[in-house]
Amino acid sequence: MFDKVLIANRGEIALRIHRACQEMGIATVAVHSTADEHAMHVRLANECVCIGPPSSQDSYLNIPAIISAAEITGADAIHPGYGFLSENDKFAEIIAEHKIEFIGPSAEHIRLMGDKISAKEVVKKLGIPVVPGSDGEVADITKAKKIADKIGYPVIVKAAAGGGGRGMKVVHSANELESAIQSCKKEAAASFGDAAVYLEKFLTLPRHIEFQVIADKYGNVCHLGERDCSLQRRHQKVLEEAPSPALNSDEQSRMGDIVSKAIKGLGYVGVGTIEFLYENGEFFFIEMNTRLQVEHPITEMITGIDIVREQIRIAAGLPLSFRQEDIKFSGHAIECRINAEDPFTFMPSPGKIKDYHAPGGLDVRVDSAIYSGYSIPPYYDSMIAKLIVHGKTRNECLMRLRRALAEYVIDGIKTTIPLHQSLIREPDFINGAYDIHWLENYLKSIK
Ligand code: ADP
Repeated sequence: MFDKVLIANRGEIALRIHRACQEMGIATVAVHSTADEHAMHVRLANECVCIGPPSSQDSYLNIPAIISAAEITGADAIHPGYGFLSENDKFAEIIAEHKIEFIGPSAEHIRLMGDKISAKEVVKKLGIPVVPGSDGEVADITKAKKIADKIGYPVIVKAAAGGGGRGMKVVHSANELESAIQSCKKEAAASFGDAAVYLEKFLTLPRHIEFQVIADKYGNVCHLGERDCSLQRRHQKVLEEAPSPALNSDEQSRMGDIVSKAIKGLGYVGVGTIEFLYENGEFFFIEMNTRLQVEHPITEMITGIDIVREQIRIAAGLPLSFRQEDIKFSGHAIECRINAEDPFTFMPSPGKIKDYHAPGGLDVRVDSAIYSGYSIPPYYDSMIAKLIVHGKTRNECLMRLRRALAEYVIDGIKTTIPLHQSLIREPDFINGAYDIHWLENYLKSIK
């Protein structure tokens, strides 16, 4: 097992990884920007190294500074968390060249899945159903029009290298197609350094359902069930639940088996998430994330498996500590992402937290690195906490979530807690009757 892990991230996920390491007897190294000197992960880590100024480009994305920090402190592994460098194949490669273990999959798998076009091709061959669309990149507008006519409007133009809900454009008719492709290409080149785009059928009433997989270096693969992440704003997840209120256990295990087989065929090692759109009883692959997900705790709550601990064990060369038949899905879990934003206009609201009280009690978990007196810097993602609640049934989980949200005090800044409080009282949400467009429509309806 590793003696020391460097955590190449910040915020709640840096703390989450620190906690797993401490429970495994592993020392931690926090790296931080000058803006994060007083951050909780920095205060709690066994060692810390300042790696640059506030801008992410110069700190959390600064590969030479992070590698130097690992060398100076003698860390034998690096955990990238999510975001930042977690899906950067070059980072994984450079770490390996320095004889440091990357806690994640191989650089080759990151590369393969990072390009959504190659990802679709690969998983299709492995027996996973994909969204109908262009076979590969669309470069030529005449060909693109033909493909769109064939799959039928509306279609969605997507950047091969896209992520974080960016680099996508919905097109409703042929005369909008050319300009959508051009603007998507431009945005993709500027944001991701790769202008390639492809076409997909735009599904009008789907749910977003994803499967968590985990695989060791010895060919053992398990799936940890699904998460329903249909509540989204601007293609970004706001609240997630596990299991999905839309699936029965037969559908869950059937799809879980298909996914596990594909992951085995791929020779993938580590944790990963296979994302699908689910419409009229059918699954359509959209992408695979080759890292830990923000929403991993809801899976932990219904399986009792510490995913980060397993991830570290796998990187250290240990076999999975369970088999598929050992995994028992128990109860229901929901996660609310709490952002430092106005709950209804979504204007960012960084600043000093004057008063802080986190909810507690049975089956309530708060993953957050904020505290009373902490100043949220304006430079990074606005998510400041995740409230995760478990119950024996979905109804019990909902009642507990209401109670926990009511207890949560974060004073001094605006947060999205009031949004969660109101949306979980909506009859559609209570009945589990929502798709990926539901939240946007709801937000329009309450304006
Ligand atoms: P990202 O990598 O940016 O998260 P995804 O491909 O995972 O991009 O898509 C994010 C979200 O965008 C999906 O959860 C869904 O809401 C929407 N989306 C993507 N592809 C389609 C599609 N073909 N039809 C309808 N919605 C889509």
